[in-house]
Amino acid sequence: MTVTAIVGANWGDEGKGKMTDYLSAESSYVVRYQGGRNAGHTIINDYGKFALHMLPSGVFHQNVMNVIGPGVALDVDAFFTELNEVIDRGVPKPRVSVSNRAQIVLPIHRLFDELEEKRLGDRSFGSTKQGIAPFYSDKYAKLGIQVADLLNETRLRSKLKQTLEAKNVLLEHLYKEKPIQVDELVAHLLELGEQLRPYICDTTVMLQEAHARGENILLEGQLGALRDPDHGIYPFSTSSSTLAGFATVGAGVPPHAITRIMAVTKAYSSCVGSGPFVMELEGDEAHELRIRGGDAGEFGATTGRPRRVGWFDAVATRYGCMVQGATEIALTNLDVLGYLDRIPVCTGYKLADGTETQNFPVTAELDDATPIIAYMDGWKTDISDARSFEDLPAAAQKYVEFIESAIKVKVAYISVGPKRDQLMIR
Ligand code: GDP
Repeated sequence: MTVTAIVGANWGDEGKGKMTDYLSAESSYVVRYQGGRNAGHTIINDYGKFALHMLPSGVFHQNVMNVIGPGVALDVDAFFTELNEVIDRGVPKPRVSVSNRAQIVLPIHRLFDELEEKRLGDRSFGSTKQGIAPFYSDKYAKLGIQVADLLNETRLRSKLKQTLEAKNVLLEHLYKEKPIQVDELVAHLLELGEQLRPYICDTTVMLQEAHARGENILLEGQLGALRDPDHGIYPFSTSSSTLAGFATVGAGVPPHAITRIMAVTKAYSSCVGSGPFVMELEGDEAHELRIRGGDAGEFGATTGRPRRVGWFDAVATRYGCMVQGATEIALTNLDVLGYLDRIPVCTGYKLADGTETQNFPVTAELDDATPIIAYMDGWKTDISDARSFEDLPAAAQKYVEFIESAIKVKVAYISVGPKRDQLMIR
């Protein structure tokens, strides 16, 4: 019986949703512990294809209690839209619990996100404009609204008043917009609180008790290690920690409980949004990889934006696995590389001063870093039907072994297609 964190080794979109959906079959709890609806997990299973943003990826399994932990930026509208969509599409009503300590993304957070991106223009950080940065700013400035506050009108009004005092100064004088009144927000938030009521509980106590009983718990990370505000490509990071180390905080399980940390990485690189991306490809090479990648090309599950793509980056992935504390790797999208005669891989970075490094540099040094490339033999065949390591062509086996030796973490799962069963355990 384990507590497992499933996290991204790179910039996000590694295929964590698929792995969580797969491992959910043997889990009693699947917990979101950070971030909000700003990222999407694509899941393809017997019910169809889904892009989940707000709901945990265990919603397709009746054995799973899906938990929104205290560390999440809860967008209640998105939560219900997604829940209803899943049910409308034939999935049995999922079991979901929402932490009474989770905080709410308010309409003003989304508004501020948009206004700030507009104000920054080409200096923007590539926000998905879902209000996440303004939400976490308010949370740590102690201006946030907790889920439990939605059930108490007097308290909700007084907290909104406090938040809006400062916001309205910015709205009027920085962004030249109309101020917002408490009354404009209260009725909708109270209504959302009533809708949420049946789902609200102290999920921290629930998970601690589940852990004490020895139940299997999956902690589902969003985005990837390189988007972590402390260890990633700041300021092109997200606003909450994407690391397994934070899972214990954002979910509310004891730090010593997490014994298994699965870092998910693609067999090549992809990156949505702005920021340094040393291994980035341009032109035809990028286009070819982009249209072949993922389940329908490399386009963002939330934004539809074309993802930036590159070859496998051993420097970034080794670092990502290190800061995640990975105990195993799930390698996804290996099937995508089947079109190449030889497969380039990035084995080091050359810095502006000419030195070479295998260590992932700080953002200030990343901008001028260039990749050092080595080549592996391609396998030039469709491997999407392979179900065991032995089924893979020798060149594909060697590619997996190269990744394992470069990262120094065992590749425990290999995914060869977007569907649930296109997976092998090693
Ligand atoms: P997540 O946010 O980490 O869950 O990743 P996303 O869902 O945003 O992106 C992963 C993409 O890869 C999605 O389009 C998945 O359907 C797709 N995918 C996952 N595993 C595989 C795989 O092994 N092969 C292929 N071709 N696509 C995969």
